Amino acid sequence: VIQIYSESLIQNDTKLGTVIVYRDITKEHEVDQMKSEFVTTVSHELRTPLSSVLGFTELMLTRELKPERQKKYLTTIHQEAFRLTSLINDFLDVQKMESGSQEFDKKYHSILPIIQDVIDVQKVNSDKHVFVMDIQTEKLSVFGDRDKLSQVFMNLISNAIKYSPEGGKVLVRLYHTNKHLIINIKDEGLGIPQSAIGDLFTKFYRVDNSDRRKIGGTGLGLAIVKEIVKVHGGQISVESTLGQGSIFTVKFPVIEDVYVNASITMDKG
Ligand code: ADP
Repeated sequence: VIQIYSESLIQNDTKLGTVIVYRDITKEHEVDQMKSEFVTTVSHELRTPLSSVLGFTELMLTRELKPERQKKYLTTIHQEAFRLTSLINDFLDVQKMESGSQEFDKKYHSILPIIQDVIDVQKVNSDKHVFVMDIQTEKLSVFGDRDKLSQVFMNLISNAIKYSPEGGKVLVRLYHTNKHLIINIKDEGLGIPQSAIGDLFTKFYRVDNSDRRKIGGTGLGLAIVKEIVKVHGGQISVESTLGQGSIFTVKFPVIEDVYVNASITMDKG
């Protein structure tokens, strides 16, 4: 996108010439476009769960319902409220990330119960996927902020579910090399086109194709994951085959000198 600006140079009523300035504003244009798409996405993402909460509470207030039906509606209301809360938390996190005011309370933890808790929450939200844990290492210690680490796996595992069909398997594998504790999150879902891989961890970026237009999201999840992993001295990468599935890989530095049992966490020093 080129912006053109021109001005005549006039001296003593004589036109000397014209100055024409061409400015490449492609980047600004893209940012503006992303922002306006973002506002549309956000209003949609906020409105959808709210209308379902309003609709179901209204039904419950105005009708006599059998207990099973009540439970079903309450479950939906709970899920939608959960969705709204995580959405708002994502906005706040991105805002904090950008202003540098995000605080990390780092301690030694075993990564195992952190991932296990995430899977337990996800199982409640989706009983239509199969979760498999494959643990091939005892070097499970990480030095980090429990809530933030939990968010990394919450975002990755919920994406694995969100972007794969019902009945799909989500495999979480843990192993180590000399330098890294490595966690793979593998799904059998839609996959990601190669052309999108480079932008995937950029905030607001969403892969846009007809399969996924109906799947809600803000494009913030992976940007948050990348930032948290970076602050923990780690790396994140992805391999994917369109139509077959994706593997997200998180690497943290191996901690040799601290033994952390699955149920124990201790302060540094
Ligand atoms: P959101 O899910 O809110 O759109 P994310 O930042 O979590 O945002 O992901 C960015 C995009 O990457 C998604 O819109 C989706 O198209 C793609 N994506 C992320 N995880 C997966 C996955 N496991 N399988 C397929 N596509 C994925």
